[in-house]
Amino acid sequence: MDALFVRRWIEEIASAVEANRDYLTQLDAAIGDADHGVNMSRGLSAVMAKLPQADAVAPGPLLVTVGSTLISTVGGAAGPLYGTAFRQAGKALGDGETFEPEELLAALRAALEGIQKLGAATLGDKTMVDALAPAIDAFEKELGAGGDMGSVSRKAREAAEEGMRATIPLQARKGRASYLGPRSVGHQDPGATSTALIFQALERVVGDAGA
Ligand code: ADP
Ligand code: MG
Repeated sequence: MDALFVRRWIEEIASAVEANRDYLTQLDAAIGDADHGVNMSRGLSAVMAKLPQADAVAPGPLLVTVGSTLISTVGGAAGPLYGTAFRQAGKALGDGETFEPEELLAALRAALEGIQKLGAATLGDKTMVDALAPAIDAFEKELGAGGDMGSVSRKAREAAEEGMRATIPLQARKGRASYLGPRSVGHQDPGATSTALIFQALERVVGDAGA
């Protein structure tokens, strides 16, 4: 995988966020302040505007730029959290022109660590961590079993979606939704939903690349 792969992934994430903007906002309306779709859309639009200037940039630094852009353009909780995630993933990839699935796995782990260091959420708190952590575990398991990026990205996407749906019965313990207490139960977490979109995008890009 190379910088072009990362670019296509970012483009897929941006179009998925755009297509699901109202949906993400509706989910946030139920247990938050109805801005998650708007926040993500604003951030990814800013990222898309920057991509052409980041031509010929290696995958790692490209992800760092994506993260910095999200931090500077997205308010609320998700901007700094996703921004930190992309920055940490980029730093983990280093300056190489290409990366292997094992390096992508390490980058995803670094992203999760960044999110948890900043937001202190653990599994079951009804946040993006509930989609991201199981997706990474599934990625690792399938890779360890000898899977290629096709099956690895599929397993990761399935686990992300499962984790996303599993947030419905949970009571939020982090973020704005936690202010609702038991009234947050019965609603899908917006951030876990956008994280599932990111893994759906990864699977599509892997499929398009024929990897
Ligand atoms: P805000 O809550 O500031 O309005 P958004 O609506 O854009 O920000 O994002 C809300 C999402 O952010 C939640 O659905 C949740 O997944 C995620 N989130 C909030 N707080 C945390 C946290 N401490 N750790 C991880 N994710 C969090
Ligand atoms: Mg919100």
